[in-house]
Amino acid sequence: MDFSFSEEQEHFRKMLKDFAKQELLPNYTKWDREGVTPKHLWKKLGELGVNGLRIPFDYGGSSADCVTTGIAAEEIGRGDFNLTYAVMLNALIGEIITNHGSEDQKREWLPMISSGEKIVGIAITEPSAGTDAGGIKTTAVHKENVYILNGEKSGISVATSGDAFIIFAKTNPDLGNRGISAFIVPANLPGVETRGYEDLGNIPISRGSIYLNDVEVSEENLIGLENNGFAQVMNGFDLSRLLIGLQCVGAATQSLDETIEHVKNRHSFGKPLAAYQGVSFPIVTHFAQLEMVKWQAYRGLWLRDQGLKHSKESALVKWLGPKYSQEAIHECLLLNGHYAYTKEMPLEQRLRDVIGLEIGDGTAQANQMVIAKDIIGKEFRSY
Ligand SMILES: Cc1cc2nc3c(=O)[nH]c(=O)nc-3n(C[C@H](O)[C@H](O)[C@H](O)COP(=O)(O)OP(=O)(O)OC[C@H]3O[C@@H](n4cnc5c(N)ncnc54)[C@H](O)[C@@H]3O)c2cc1C
Repeated sequence: MDFSFSEEQEHFRKMLKDFAKQELLPNYTKWDREGVTPKHLWKKLGELGVNGLRIPFDYGGSSADCVTTGIAAEEIGRGDFNLTYAVMLNALIGEIITNHGSEDQKREWLPMISSGEKIVGIAITEPSAGTDAGGIKTTAVHKENVYILNGEKSGISVATSGDAFIIFAKTNPDLGNRGISAFIVPANLPGVETRGYEDLGNIPISRGSIYLNDVEVSEENLIGLENNGFAQVMNGFDLSRLLIGLQCVGAATQSLDETIEHVKNRHSFGKPLAAYQGVSFPIVTHFAQLEMVKWQAYRGLWLRDQGLKHSKESALVKWLGPKYSQEAIHECLLLNGHYAYTKEMPLEQRLRDVIGLEIGDGTAQANQMVIAKDIIGKEFRSY
């Protein structure tokens, strides 16, 4: 066993840690308050090689391994939780296009995703199908050399700021999950409309609905094989779920570090707050939970890099990473007293932001279903 990062990985971590501290953290709350997606920072992350980590060199990426991608998720999460979507979304979409896209799709989209010039979202969820993603109703009807898409996608990250979306639609409704295909759909095509939400958190991620009314895409926009879209994306979730765990751990660890500083300096009844075990033990508890989930996340990424099974590990990290992080940030907010309840401090925003990823990319129950299927057996599932 070897738990050490390589010298190159440590160097990458240091570079991102410094960048996150100096350039991201000071403006983390600004984008939330102003309600904007800082596209210039997506480009900046592109320059640092963060957007193209899971994209091959030949298409403008850095061909990095999954463990290195996890380092980026964790360190960017310390500075600006919402910019971790540039790590996670781009890794997920980069892998889908790299592994299943045509040569033309790779040449057209991957360099622009790597550079941060274009933001691409992934749209599966619908008003009547979230956890049960196989139940989507959006259709793509093949007519001569085009597909006509109709339907509604809901809850989609970067809905109002994205340049294109990977849209999942039924090409053969009789086949259930096996009748779903994936298409690259530019946001400016006739018939595509979007509506943003007033979300609790993740404001700069501009989540919203996408409406598809007789949207015509060419056959060249189909990703991979017809009726194979679901299988193509499910493997990608095993990566994004591990990254999400680390994004959340990054935000929570930053909150703990800030809180440790606060309790060392703030006094009550003549002693620093840190001297009271009622203060230090909760900090220790959250530190311990975050450490455990962090190392399980890196283990899952390592398994993926080795080509070994890791769905159960991913589900575990996606379930407990956001949960432990949310609980840690909540405690940090309380330990900082009433100022932390104001918008002058970042803790209330971190709490709102991290809660989003207790739902996005699969809820606690969705992930527990994956674990149950693995350790108890799929013959005992009730769905
Ligand atoms: C911040 C954020 C970002 C998102 N980004 C995207 C995106 O980019 N693209 C995209 O396609 N979607 C995205 N989503 C949507 C997200 O994937 C769905 O919200 C999620 O899968 C849950 O679906 P749902 O909201 O329809 O809830 P439902 O599926 O209706 O579930 C509601 C509740 O019931 C529970 N539940 C459901 N079925 C079962 C069961 N069988 N057993 C036990 N409990 C069950 C769930 O765990 C949940 O608590 C995002 C959501 C958020 C909050």
